Amino acid sequence: MIGSGYVGLVSGVCFSDFGHEVVCIDKDPQKIALLNSGETPIYEPGLRTMMARNTEAGRLSFTTDLAEGIKGADAVFIAVGTPARRGDGHADLSFVYQAAEEIAAEIDDYMVVITKSTVPVGTNREVEQRIRAVRPDADFDVASNPEFLREGAAIEDFMHPDRIVVGVESERARTLLGEIYRPLFLRETPIVTTGLESAEMIKYAANAFLATKITFINEVADLCEKVGADVQSVAKGIGLDGRIGPKFLHPGPGYGGSCLPKDTQALVQTALTHGSPVRVVGTVVEVNAARKRAMADKVVAAAGGSVAGKRIAVLGVTFKPNTDDMREASSLVIVPALRAADASIVLCDPQGRKEGEALLGPAGWVSDPYEAAAEADILLLLTEWNEFRALDLSRVRAAMKGNVMVDLRNVYLPAEARVAGFSYVSVGRS
Ligand code: NAD
Repeated sequence: MIGSGYVGLVSGVCFSDFGHEVVCIDKDPQKIALLNSGETPIYEPGLRTMMARNTEAGRLSFTTDLAEGIKGADAVFIAVGTPARRGDGHADLSFVYQAAEEIAAEIDDYMVVITKSTVPVGTNREVEQRIRAVRPDADFDVASNPEFLREGAAIEDFMHPDRIVVGVESERARTLLGEIYRPLFLRETPIVTTGLESAEMIKYAANAFLATKITFINEVADLCEKVGADVQSVAKGIGLDGRIGPKFLHPGPGYGGSCLPKDTQALVQTALTHGSPVRVVGTVVEVNAARKRAMADKVVAAAGGSVAGKRIAVLGVTFKPNTDDMREASSLVIVPALRAADASIVLCDPQGRKEGEALLGPAGWVSDPYEAAAEADILLLLTEWNEFRALDLSRVRAAMKGNVMVDLRNVYLPAEARVAGFSYVSVGRS
């Protein structure tokens, strides 16, 4: 497993739990040292225990040495990052191609090189060509196996996926992937076996659709506020329609994270390159970016038109609960905007502080939501961690100087917030 981040590490650990012998490789020596000491460099529920079980059983190991790690391997997964390229929104494939070339030098017997990273259409063919250029003699196949796990529920998702997508062009590679995923085949997990281009496209189309669903309900929420409707009821009412489905219909401060923002942008760029624009997705990208900025304005409006000199307690900075991942989190737009409007910010997040300090500065962090609320004028709920879902609102209100609560995840009921003495603002509920 080349790349031991959120996807590579979880996949490697889960494959070892299937009984396979797995070597997780990463070029970051600090990550590997941490893993070798039994610690995980990321926060993911259940990961540490499963990792310990499999390292103890001798099936799972970690190294920075790619040549050593892939020696004798039947399959090599590429699970390195594919961030948005600065300036143009295309996926940056340099890590993928570098990994491919490093693998090429080490191929001995037949090997399948499988891309798990999210990569635009055409990348797997390019991987094949690059390996071939380095090693014209090598006996290998390439395959595409995009990953759909969600951070925060990654182990559960990997072990019980809705489907597995396998893009292959040879029977030999298909059989090998079948053996690797055998425990899930036995559980009758649907397998979509297809060509390389379709597998690559499935991942982007899936993420673009999810981003569209979120953005759709966000705009509906804004309209609900204007017309006196309640978006929670509207989402329920439409979600029960089997053609629509209830998931990804939760309004909020705009989607973030390591996938949806960069993957929607990359799809827009791929489409433009091929002269077949995906205008819906392009609009989703724009609307979502504008939404994050608009959420800072919403806080200012809730404060009566100015937050200058006000103290704002921010609960949650990660892009969603149960992860320490801060990539493209809405807090990274909202908090700086509020600071620029001269608010003083107190920050609280169960797992986000380490990443968050680097991105939002070291000042103002506390570890307890009630401590965050002390003397605050405004309480801003940004990420719906369980720790913030059942606060004693009367106690929070009593600790605060002001009475404004902005709940951008609709965690609380307007009535209960008002009973506790709050002037309460949420999303899509007038
Ligand atoms: P990440 O940044 O957490 O991890 C990538 C790791 O790869 C890093 O630790 C980096 O040091 C390592 N790396 C880069 N080049 C390397 C090389 N040549 N050799 C060895 N190690 C190398 O990224 P991630 O979140 O795990 O995402 C990986 C891929 O999976 C991306 O394409 C992403 O879009 C996709 N994906 C991510 C998620 C998610 O929830 N994070 C879900 C599905 C798909």
